[in-house]
Amino acid sequence: MTAQVLVVGSANADLVVPADRRPGGGETVLGGDTRILPGGKGANTAVAAARLGADVALVGAVGADGHGKLLLESLRESGVRTDLVRTVDRPTGAAYITVTPDGENSILVSPGANHALAPADIDDVAGVTGGFAGVRVLVASMEIPLPTVEHVLVSAAAAGVRTVLNLSPVAELAAEALAVLDVLLVNEHEAAWLLGEDAADPARLLELGPRSAVVTRGAHGAVVVTRDGTTEVPSPRVKVVDTTGAGDAFAGALAHALAGGAGLAAAARTAAQVAAVSVTRTGAQPSYPTADELG
Ligand code: ADP
Repeated sequence: MTAQVLVVGSANADLVVPADRRPGGGETVLGGDTRILPGGKGANTAVAAARLGADVALVGAVGADGHGKLLLESLRESGVRTDLVRTVDRPTGAAYITVTPDGENSILVSPGANHALAPADIDDVAGVTGGFAGVRVLVASMEIPLPTVEHVLVSAAAAGVRTVLNLSPVAELAAEALAVLDVLLVNEHEAAWLLGEDAADPARLLELGPRSAVVTRGAHGAVVVTRDGTTEVPSPRVKVVDTTGAGDAFAGALAHALAGGAGLAAAARTAAQVAAVSVTRTGAQPSYPTADELG
């Protein structure tokens, strides 16, 4: 049986080291203890949706190592199905994150196994799932090869599946893939990059091809754009502790709400509530609320 929400994207071990300052070239700096946390945009999105009660599977790749085991365990604990996560002969993706006392992060990502996720794997998934049968929403995220992202969007759309792309980190996507996209999800910086503007007009994102777009704006909420017009969605006012993974929380919650039949503006309103809870807690996946916690 196929899950109702299918997430295609990365799984990374986040290796977080606190340090007084970041090392310069040729320099060694002693930091604090390393924390190893499950992360990666695909895994985060799947966990966010599953915590809310979605029937969700991740399509991804990890290595046959401890980090891969950690990620698979975290996904399963949250209720994400992992039968479509391949174990490949490359190290599990890792993000090396230095955090300085000013709260600033510097991050080096080693994609590893994530880069082994090929368009042919998407064809395998389509075969195993009977052409994405039963999938209500497919969410693609980045940190995997661009041709794979493009291929999954085109394949899922051809099978009549609603598609969401969280285009973060932003990249130039083939016009054919943008043209079949239902929801383009980006933050304001990514929207500006896509449109070549300093401050983007969200409505212009539809000129790139997608049927609709959602632009997240941190504490200012989100803007939903469809052919019928623009809707502003406010962010609940919260005390911010850590915004890591807020965009992924938003993506997972949006997919869950859409799969449940919500309209895009209503889904974005729910997603803003979920993402707002996530920024009041530390970390990405550990910060995501369950449906019960939302009240
Ligand atoms: P990203 O994390 O991808 O850069 P944003 O900063 O736009 O994206 O955050 C994504 C979503 O998380 C926002 O639309 C909002 O719902 C929520 N969020 C982020 N920061 C805050 C905040 N300070 N207060 C309330 N909600 C927030």
